[in-house]
Amino acid sequence: MKCLICKNEKMRKGTTLLPIERGNAILLITDIPAQICTNCGEPYLKEDIAREVQQLANQRLAGEVSYENELGERDILVEAFA
Ligand SMILES: [Zn+2]
Repeated sequence: MKCLICKNEKMRKGTTLLPIERGNAILLITDIPAQICTNCGEPYLKEDIAREVQQLANQRLAGEVSYENELGERDILVEAFA
């Protein structure tokens, strides 16, 4: 696998985090397993992991999203990927 950013071909196993924004809510999902570029640190998720992250976000954000709040008023949620 080649890094799309820096073309480096070396990856290491690690974890990353991903912010997902829906309306006024921001869900930060941590500890997501990923391949990390050893040169620039860009994380790459496998397809099934990316799908699970989306599912987790949908579950966690159900009922939390509002589009009516003032600018700058944010609900920030943190969830570890399990
Ligand atoms: Zn890279």
